[in-house]
Amino acid sequence: MKSDTIQKIIKIVGQENILSSMEERICYSYDGTFQRGIPDLVVFPANTKEVAEIVKLANKENFSVFPRGAGTGLSGGSIPIGSGVALVLSRMNKIKEINREDLLAVVEPGVVTGHFHQEVEKLGLFYPPDPASLKTCTMGGNIAENAGGPRAFKYGVTKDYVLGLEVVTPEGEIMHTGGRTVKNVTGYDLTRLITGSEGTLGIVTEITVRLVPKPKEKRTALVIFDKLEDAASTVTAIICHGVIPATLELMDQITINCVEKYNNLGLPLDAEAVLLIEVDGGKNQVEEDIKSIEEICQNHHCREIQVASLAEEREKLWKSRRAVSSAIVQLNPTKISEDATVPRSKIPEMVKRLREIAAKYNLHLPVFGHAGDGNLHPNILADKNNKEEMERVEKAVAEIFQAALELGGTLSGEHGIGIMKRPYLQWELGEVGMNYLRAIKRAVDPNNILNPGKIF
Ligand SMILES: Cc1cc2nc3c(=O)[nH]c(=O)nc-3n(C[C@H](O)[C@H](O)[C@H](O)COP(=O)(O)OP(=O)(O)OC[C@H]3O[C@@H](n4cnc5c(N)ncnc54)[C@H](O)[C@@H]3O)c2cc1C
Repeated sequence: MKSDTIQKIIKIVGQENILSSMEERICYSYDGTFQRGIPDLVVFPANTKEVAEIVKLANKENFSVFPRGAGTGLSGGSIPIGSGVALVLSRMNKIKEINREDLLAVVEPGVVTGHFHQEVEKLGLFYPPDPASLKTCTMGGNIAENAGGPRAFKYGVTKDYVLGLEVVTPEGEIMHTGGRTVKNVTGYDLTRLITGSEGTLGIVTEITVRLVPKPKEKRTALVIFDKLEDAASTVTAIICHGVIPATLELMDQITINCVEKYNNLGLPLDAEAVLLIEVDGGKNQVEEDIKSIEEICQNHHCREIQVASLAEEREKLWKSRRAVSSAIVQLNPTKISEDATVPRSKIPEMVKRLREIAAKYNLHLPVFGHAGDGNLHPNILADKNNKEEMERVEKAVAEIFQAALELGGTLSGEHGIGIMKRPYLQWELGEVGMNYLRAIKRAVDPNNILNPGKIF
C-alpha cells in the first residue's frame, strides 16, 4: 500500500488507531479456520463517518477493505485476500439503547454478543441468538454471518431478530434499512439482504434488534445413549411429538471421549451419544415438556437421563457441550469445522453418512452440534502439514456437502461460505443463482472494494 494512502487513512482515524508493523498485522491474518492472509494495514474506526470516509478513499485509491469483528469466523470471511486494509469494528462497541416498551435495542457492531445478552437480561428481556462463540464474537459479525446457535431450534437465528441496520455501502454512502417496527414491507427487504452477506455488500455500523421477554423457567436434561442411531431417532421423535425445546444438542462418542479427557466431567466413554436438551417457558409448560421428553428418550432406549433445574446444576450439564471446540483439537491440530445442514427428519441418515465418510477416508470426524435444527457440526481433525491427509480431507468435505444436498439440505447452516465453501457454492445455487448473486455484488460494488474473494 502506498505510503501516501496510509497517511490519508491516518488523517481519518488518527495515528493511534492503525497498526502497521508486521508483528501486529499478523495478529489480524487469522480467523477460526486455517486460512491466512496478512493485511497491509489494520484500521480501527471510531464511528460511521470514519468508516464511510475510509471506504470512499478505498474507491478513489483502489484498495480492498476487509471488515472484521472479533475474527472468530469459521469460513475465512474476515481473512484478507490480496492487498488491502483490515477494518476492525471493535472500537464501535456501545449499546446505545435498550427499550422495554418497543422491545428493541440499538447497538454498535463491535458489541460482544455475550455482553449484550447480560445487559438485556438484567432488564428481564432476552436476545435469543447464541453462537457458542458469544463470549468473544461481535454483533456485527453475527449480522454478517447470520449467526445461529443452540437456541435456534426454538427461537430462530440472527436474521429473525434484526429490525433495522445502518450500513456503509461499498461506495462509502450511508444507508438505513428497516427501522424500529416489527412489520416493515417498504421496498425490497434490504435488511435481510445485508444480513448474511458476509461483509461483501456493506459495512454494518448500527444494528436495531428485536427483543423478547426472558423465559421464566428452564430445565436441562443430559441423556446418554448406547447407540448413536437411537439418539438421532430420538431427535426426530421429540420434534414429531410437538415439543419444541429451546436447545437440542448432540455429541457423538468421539466428541464425548475428547470432552471427558479434557475436563473429566464423568461422561461414560462407552456411550455412543449424548443429547443435551433444554426447555424453557412458564413453570407448568416446562414441567410438562421435560416429562414428555423423558418418556420419549426412554422409549428410544436411552441408558440414563439427568435432569437439572437450578442454574448451577444446569451449568454443570452444559459444561460438556461448551468444552467441545477446545477438547476435540486434542485429536489433531487442524480443525475443519463444517456446518452442512439437513432437514430435521434426515438427521439419522446424515449421521450414518458421516460415519461412512469418516471410515472411507480414515479421518477423525467427531460429530456434534445443533441436531434439533438439522445443523450438525462434522469436524475433521487433521494436520495441515500432512499433504496426503489433507487430500483425503478435501475429498471427505466434498462428500459431506454432496450428502447434505442429496438429503435436501444446504452447505452452510450458520458459518457462511467465505473462502472455505466457495468452490462448492454452485452445487447448491446452480448457474442462474450464482449469476444473480454476482449481479447484485457488481451493482452495489462496481469497483469490487468490499471483502473481495469471498463467497464467489
Ligand atoms: C468456538 C467457536 C464456536 C462458534 N460457534 C458458533 C455458533 O454456535 N453459531 C454460529 O453461527 N457461529 C459460530 N461460530 C462462528 C463465528 O463465531 C460467527 O460466525 C460469528 O458471527 C463471527 O463474529 P465475529 O465478530 O468474530 O466476526 P469475524 O469473524 O470478524 O467476521 C465474520 C464475517 O463478518 C464480516 N463482518 C464482521 N463485522 C462486520 C460488520 N460490522 N459489517 C459487515 N461485515 C462484518 C467479516 O468481513 C466476515 O466476513 C463459532 C466460532 C468459534 C471459534
